[in-house]
This record gives sequence, structure tokens and C-alpha cells, in this order.
Amino acid sequence: MNIIVAGCGRLGAELAQMLDSDGYSVVVIDKDINAFKRLKPSFKGKFIEGVAFDKATLIKAGIEHADAVASTTNGDNTNIVTALIAKKKFNVPTIVARIYDPIRAEIYRKMGINTVSPTLWGANKMKDLICHPDLFRVSSFGSGEVEIVETEASAYLNGRHVKELVIPSEVNVVSIVRDGIAMIPTQSTVVKKGDKIFIAVTAFGKTKMKQMFM
Ligand code: AMP
Repeated sequence: MNIIVAGCGRLGAELAQMLDSDGYSVVVIDKDINAFKRLKPSFKGKFIEGVAFDKATLIKAGIEHADAVASTTNGDNTNIVTALIAKKKFNVPTIVARIYDPIRAEIYRKMGINTVSPTLWGANKMKDLICHPDLFRVSSFGSGEVEIVETEASAYLNGRHVKELVIPSEVNVVSIVRDGIAMIPTQSTVVKKGDKIFIAVTAFGKTKMKQMFM
């Protein structure tokens, strides 16, 4: 899989490095030649000095055969223009753009461009760590609006049905691990003390969930 990472700053270099370590073929573009220094000596991909949305630079980076483009510069406009060129002009199948402004990130997402808003994600994450420091997070979706958290069933939960722990669209029990064996519970599954319960929960659902679970 050929991947172009536009922008080799703190985010782009990290992403390029991860993809490279996973065995993907990576080409990094940055307008600043010094950005190359962010990549570890172990990086096997290519580095091209140039402006991310410049078509000649993108062609040099192999966009005509690219499977994915991630535009990670520190400019929302640069990233959206680069993403649009990759999508419309070169038909790159997978595109993702870093967009600081959460409102614009949402608008572009609706236009069919995958966006990651570090601002919204960071705000959700920080709020969550302040308000719910006791929850163990397993994974996070979108910009952190939905998470899967893990909790251990207390004596209080022993004997309760899963349906008592569900709030539609806010809290859902996705898996229970009992004695090391995972299952997907039904509404009538009975919880046992010590079960590890995996719950999909929205930011709004967390407070209600804690009241129900603890
Ligand atoms: P950071 O905010 O640390 O992730 O850094 C952003 C990176 O994007 C820096 O290395 C910049 O040189 C790079 N950058 C910003 N604008 C452009 C652009 N138009 N074309 C290529 N690289 C860019």
C-alpha cells in the first residue's frame, strides 16, 4: 500500500513513522527540508521537499499510484486543498485531513473527506479525564464522542440483567468477559460480580452510567 503523508511536523512524522514500521510504503512531503530530521534513521520511506498541494510535488511523491493521502500540515486550508486535489484530480481512494477547526472539520466530513480534528478530540479527551478519571478506556471513536470503557462488576451489579444497564443511544453493554471468556450478552444476560464489562458510552451517557454501575 502506497501512502503519502503531507506535512512532516509533530503529527505527520509520527504517523509516517508508524505506517513505515507497519510495512507500508510511505512518501512524506514537507515544505521545510529540516522537517526531515523528525524522522528516525530507521525510516525506510522517501522524503520530498515541497508544498503539499502542488501538483508537480504530488506527482513526484507518486500520487498517481497512491492508495491513501494523509494531509497533516498545520494549515487547515492547506490540508483541505491537498485532500480535494487528491480526491478529485487523482482519485486517491482513501484521504484524511487534519483540520483544527471543529466546525470546518464537520463540514468537510459531510462533503466526504475524512477529517481528524485534534482540537475537538483533545477537548473531549481532557474533559473526560477531568470528569471521569476512574474509567478505563479501551477505544475511542470519531473525535471521542463514543468510547468503549471497561469496568469490573461490583457486588451491587451481581444478579442484574444487562437490560437494566442499557440506556438507548447512550450506554450499551457490548461484551462481558467471565472467567477469561468473552461473550456478547443479550438483554437478559445476568451479570456476575467480578465480570469485566465492556460498555459503549457517549460523553453524555458517562455520568448516568456511573450512577447505574457503581
Ligand atoms: P506540526 O504542527 O508540528 O505537525 O507541523 C506541521 C508541519 O507542516 C511543519 O513541518 C510544516 O513545515 C508543514 N507544512 C505547513 N504548511 C505546509 C505546506 N503548505 N506544504 C508542506 N508542508 C507544510
